[in-house]
Amino acid sequence: MARRQPICRPATQLSHALIMTLCLALLGCAEPQNAPSASPYKEPSAYSNKEPSAAFNEKPLASRNNEASAPSHKALAAAQFSGRNALRHIAAQVTLGPRSPYHPRAKARTLDYIETHLKPLTTRIARQPFVRHGLNGTNVWASIDGSDGDGAGRLMLGAHWDTRPFADRDANIDHRQRPVLGANDGGSGVAVLLEVARVLQKQPARSSVDLLFFDFEDMGQIDGLPFSIGARAFVAAQPDYRVDGGAIIDMVCDQRLRIPREGYSNSHAPNVLDAIWQSAARQSATVFVDAPGVPIVDDHLPFLEAGIAVVDLIHYPFPSSWHTLNDRVENCSAANLAQVGRTLLDFIYHHGAIER
Ligand SMILES: [Zn+2]
Repeated sequence: MARRQPICRPATQLSHALIMTLCLALLGCAEPQNAPSASPYKEPSAYSNKEPSAAFNEKPLASRNNEASAPSHKALAAAQFSGRNALRHIAAQVTLGPRSPYHPRAKARTLDYIETHLKPLTTRIARQPFVRHGLNGTNVWASIDGSDGDGAGRLMLGAHWDTRPFADRDANIDHRQRPVLGANDGGSGVAVLLEVARVLQKQPARSSVDLLFFDFEDMGQIDGLPFSIGARAFVAAQPDYRVDGGAIIDMVCDQRLRIPREGYSNSHAPNVLDAIWQSAARQSATVFVDAPGVPIVDDHLPFLEAGIAVVDLIHYPFPSSWHTLNDRVENCSAANLAQVGRTLLDFIYHHGAIER
């Protein structure tokens, strides 16, 4: 069911000129080796041998919220995700400073912040230093064992914890050499994962969950560097890494958050998207839009290329604050963070129920 997606798909959905520019510049339309292969799945995952849910796509989200009148135990557990807690995690990261290679002290403090919060909540946590493209980076890999051990499977959530060193999309040319604050782009994904960990520790899921924090996602097009350096380092260092499914959480706090079905995810891991969108319906999370999105280069691609069904949950069209000095906490919404976090928890709590 994995089929080849043209790398630089023209036309219909590519109304945003920038994404085409990104696509051309990063993937190079003449270099298709960066795209997930035609048959990227080395092993079937819990989601990979089922057809996408056509019925789900035929109905608007609101009409499918069957549990609205009688929330299930799982739905109630997922609702313990606090958007305000997540917003506080964003504010704390911004206060520590830009998480760029030019701000090593802020990066060291941010790693400490992530580790300090996760140590009491997780079964295992480890820093993974790496060197790629001449950069010294650090990924963080935390795991929360499920109540059934690995009997109910394993999922992963990932986010990049670095921030873009230059606000190269800022309308003010004088700002373009300054670092973005990364409330949304970097901070929001980390914040959601930290708050998810708190809820999972209180209300354990049957499935085990990996929480992955990637360095150097956002160095793309700077001195010829690619995006997703840390995520590629993770996949390269763990060639046998496998999960049933996963999601990258990126730019999910904006006041006008809108998450469509990102293009590569939709073509290579549609069943994971279906499961997440079903969770969104149960949680009345209307920021998840049941519409196809453009293909976006992000930290899910190294996983898809390795045959691991990881999707990208990302705001698109990108908010106006993207890669500008306006990527600030003031533009973040606790309510939207809560929609994302509750949907992810619902997805995790329901995963153990899937027939394996
Ligand atoms: Zn970015």
